[in-house]
Order: sequence, then structure tokens, then C-alpha cells
Amino acid sequence: MTNTAEKFEFQAEVNQVLDLVIHSLYSNKEIFLRELISNASDACDKLRFEAIKNKKISAADLSIKVDFDATAKTVTITDNGIGMTREEVINNIGTIANSGTKKYLESIAKKDRDDANLIGQFGVGFYASFIVADEVEIRTLKAGEKPESAVAWKSDGKSAYTLESIKKDTHGTEIILHLREEEAEFADNFRLRNLIKKYSEHVAFPIKMLEITHPEKDDDGNEIPAKTPEYEVVNDATALWKKAPSEVKDEDYQAFYKQISNDFNDAAFWTHNHIEGTQSYSNLLYVPSKSPFNMFQSQDEREGLKLFIKRVFIMDAAKELMPNYLRFVKGVVDSNDLPLNVSRELLQDNPLLQKIKSGLVKRVLGLLKKKSLDTEVYATFWKEFGDTLKEGVVEDYANRDAVLKLLRFASTDNQDATENVSLDDYIGRMKEAQDKIYYITGESYEAVKNSPHLELFKKEGVEVLLMHSRIDEWMMGHVQEYDGKKFQSVAKGKLDLGQDEDKAAEPSAADKSFLEKIQKQLKDHVSEVTASTRLVNSASCLVMDEHAMAIHMQKLMEQAGQAMPGQLPALEINLEHPLVQHIEHVDNEEQFKQWSELLFEQALLAEGGQLKNPANYVQKMNQLMLDILK
Ligand code: ADP
Repeated sequence: MTNTAEKFEFQAEVNQVLDLVIHSLYSNKEIFLRELISNASDACDKLRFEAIKNKKISAADLSIKVDFDATAKTVTITDNGIGMTREEVINNIGTIANSGTKKYLESIAKKDRDDANLIGQFGVGFYASFIVADEVEIRTLKAGEKPESAVAWKSDGKSAYTLESIKKDTHGTEIILHLREEEAEFADNFRLRNLIKKYSEHVAFPIKMLEITHPEKDDDGNEIPAKTPEYEVVNDATALWKKAPSEVKDEDYQAFYKQISNDFNDAAFWTHNHIEGTQSYSNLLYVPSKSPFNMFQSQDEREGLKLFIKRVFIMDAAKELMPNYLRFVKGVVDSNDLPLNVSRELLQDNPLLQKIKSGLVKRVLGLLKKKSLDTEVYATFWKEFGDTLKEGVVEDYANRDAVLKLLRFASTDNQDATENVSLDDYIGRMKEAQDKIYYITGESYEAVKNSPHLELFKKEGVEVLLMHSRIDEWMMGHVQEYDGKKFQSVAKGKLDLGQDEDKAAEPSAADKSFLEKIQKQLKDHVSEVTASTRLVNSASCLVMDEHAMAIHMQKLMEQAGQAMPGQLPALEINLEHPLVQHIEHVDNEEQFKQWSELLFEQALLAEGGQLKNPANYVQKMNQLMLDILK
């Protein structure tokens, strides 16, 4: 250990982050205080947790102090939390440990840079200091270590920092911001108090500032020197989630949400309960109003759902407390029954926790059900999280019906792509003889809306749900029915649309041999060629077996490098179509072959499938047109 300052270079990514933070968050610069207080609060949480295991560490009087010096233009944030060792300072402050931040950097490199809403989600925390300060000092002593092992870190936020061994008598961390000339306004009592009120009111530890004192005059008009100011608590400092919901105002809920979620936007809605009974716990669960940038990050990295036990912060436990399909939920769960010394491993198969988890899922699904009654609110939710929720149909068998009830779809009954039809709406509108829920999956709204498979349904006035999200085909592969009604893809298997089945009388001998002739030409492409009962305006369409994967999905899988087992679709031909009637009279064998291929290829295209040889298709088409013109 040396006593002189040692110089270190920042990791390259740190420079990038610093640069980004300063530029993108400049219009939000006051959040620096929130970020530093939040770090201080985490450090107090960690100390309290540590003190359970290590009796030598005292968790008494944990607090955060905010001081300032208007003359020296400094703001100092002090906590008596866990502190950091020298190695921890190097690892935590000099590097970007958070893999989310790296991903964020990659993504932002491609887009416009000042998306402040996004950057907040990555815990850029400490670096926010450099928005307002041109020099920052950290003085820290790890709890349980000797005063001499403390360390001072200093940097101008450019490319390097220095580290120095110092003596510090109390554990915890002190952050000293040397404000930039133009940011000196922050070294002000009212300004700082207001910021604490605004952003950190619900930090569960007391945030203290020196009281404001004024010189007074005695009866003779002589000034009495002001008394020495003392620290006073300037925030609410109680665990918000422990309060009775009736005592908490909406704005307090919103402020607390922002504190725990790193989200700059308001939450969309929340549920707050105190559960008593075999298990006693409190939960405050939020649904964000916007899908976060990192919605699809891996489960293990999910954050924002905090587990407390008897008010002691234990860990971020999103994965343990919420199934993957509800990963957008943020909040706090505080158990009275779990043992304080739980580890992540113990949590995973702890029956108490499993009970809490299933209770929480019911709460969230109940909340969504309630909100689904408000069309406008629910539409916003659906747009942001609908596809995520759909995963629950597959993932959460026990709650499948509750999840299905929450889904919304586009429909042939709607004029546009709006997704607002629930399965209950659909069933309520079903035709008298109808006993199935008809749907179609495809690549885009345009593709499904105009699919030839819908022709008969349109003619008969039977509603079809239009599904065009990537997840839909996968999801529908896992459900058979809802409310006693079977799901039926209009592009798969046999259709029994009541009376129209009668129309499917045996084709005449001539038609039969015509179909067989086509089949012979297409034997490598289709399993059979049949007379269609479902086409009205189109000449042909492809029909998959009941259990086969839709054609647009097969294409996606192939593109993703997953060769698909060769299951051939059936080709249905509309014998009443003028083009088909023309083909029936084509004698030239070569021309007949080309017409047959065309019927198949058109059906494939309409399905969102991909032609093996598109140029050949175009040539063939031109040739046939020219032949007709002759
Ligand atoms: P984040 O808080 O999102 O992890 P920061 O850059 O703000 O990102 O902090 C990086 C790490 O530095 C923290 O995770 C924590 O381990 C450590 N740290 C920051 N501030 C403090 C503090 N006041 N006391 C102890 N450790 C701290």
C-alpha cells in the first residue's frame, strides 16, 4: 500500500458512458442527487443485511447526509453504509460491470443519443455526478475494516482517476462534488431540499441536512449569533410499502416507483396490499407505462422487484418472485415469515416463497383484469406488454384461462388493425351454429387480413381473429380451447362451417381427373390437391395439416437456420374460378405444368411463404400471359 496517489486509466467503455451521460442527461441534470442518494441507500441496505450475519457490524442509526459549501461550490453526500474496499472501488467505479449498460451502449450507438428515458434504466448512477461536477472525490471505508484501510478516489471524469490510501474513522462513503462554475446553484440549501423532496422522499433511510438558522436580535436590537445548526431529517424516511394504502397518495406511489425502477415515466398502475394469514407479507407491484429497453434481457439480469424481509432489503429477486411473462412488473415484496438469512439458492425452492409467488401472480392478473375494463388504459398496456403477456399462455398452465381472458386481438370485425377483441367478446358474437373460435396467423396484419383463407368466412359473416405477431403461431400451438370452445386455424385442417360443408359434394369425375393431373405436376410440393370449399375469390390456397406449423413460421425457422421437417401442405383449388376453368381446357402439357406450378406458387406467396426461384416465377407468368394474348 502506498500513501501517494496512484493513477489509473478508465476502461474504454467508462469514457463512452461518461460522455453519453453528460450529454444525454444534461437536460435532466438534477437527477445526479437522486442517483447518489440511491447508491447511499443501497449501501445502507447492504450494511443492514451484513449486520445480520456479522455481529461485529452495527446497523444502528443508518442515515444519509447531504451537505454543501456555497463558497467552495461543493455538495457532499455521506452515508454510513457498507463502504467499499480498494478493490471494490476499482471494480465498481472504474469499470462498467452492468452488462445492460454495454448493450445499451451498443444500441445507442445506432440511434439518436439523447434518450434520457432509456439511459436512466441502466444505473449509470454514479457517473451522473459529472453532469454537474468537474471533479469528484470518493472517500470510503468498508464496514468491519480498520480506519487505515480507507481509500480516496478522485477524478475529473475525463480519462483517468487517482487512488490514495487514507484514514477514515467511520465506515461508509463520502462523495464530494466540486461543482462546475455554471452549476454552482446546486450548492444551496433550498435547492437541495427541494430535490430531495422531489426525488428521494421515499428512500427508507433518513436523509439529513443541517437546519436553516437565522441570526436573531435581542430586545435591545443586538444580534444574537445564530445557534449551531443541527442535522434534521428532510425526507419521509419510512418504508412506503408498509403504510396503509389509504394513507398513500398517488403522487407518492409515482415518486416511489421512479425511485425503485430507474424509470423516468410514471407507472401505468399498481396494486398495494398487506396479506395476512398463513403467510404474511406486503406487496406493492407496479406496471410501467412504457416497455423498457431491456425487456428481452435474460431472466437472470432482471431487476426492479425487490425482496425485503421484515423491512431489511435482501436482494433483487425478480426471477424468484415473478414468472418470466410478467417480467415487466416492478415493485417491492416484504415478507414477515421468511428467514432473514435466506440465500438465492434457498429461495429457489422455498415453499413459502412459492406461495408468495403464486399469490403475487394472482394479484397482477387480477389487477390487469380490473384495468382491462378501462379500454383506453388497457390499450396502452396492451401495446407495450401484450406480446410478453402472451408467453404466459404457454408458461403458466395453472393460470392459462386467466391469461387468455386478458388477451386482445385484431379481428375481421374491425375496420383496422386495432387489437381490442377479447376471446369473451368473440364468443359473445359467435353465430348460432358456430362452436369454434376461428383465427388465422401470419406475418403481418396486411397478410392475414387479405389471406384467401378468409374468403368464405367473409362471405358467411363469420368473425376470424387476425394474429400477426411472431409469438402467435407458437402460442396457438399450445392451446386447444377457451371456455369450452375449440380454437381452429382457418388455414389448417378441414373446415366445417356448417351448411357450407354440404357444398363440398364429391367433385365430378372430370374434376377429379383434373385435380389428379395437377397433383401429378406438383407431387414434390404438395401432399394432395383437392377442390376447395373455403375459396371464393382466389384460385388456390395452401392448407396445412391441423398440427403442422404455419408456412410463414416455417420460413422464419428456416431463416433462423433451423431446417424444417418436410411436411407438405395440401393445395386447394377453387373450381369455380375463371382462371382454373381456363386451365381445365389447356391441352399443351408444358403449359399445363406451368399453370399448375403457378397455382401452387401464388398460393404460397399469399401465405407469406417464399418462392424457391422467384425469377423463374416471373418468367413463367410472363410467358403464360403472352400465350393468352396470342
Ligand atoms: P449502480 O448503482 O447502478 O450499480 P453506480 O455506477 O451508481 O451503478 O455504482 C456502481 C457500484 O459502486 C454500485 O453497484 C456499488 O457497488 C458501488 N457504490 C456506489 N456508490 C456507493 C456507496 N455510496 N457506497 C457503497 N458502494 C457504492
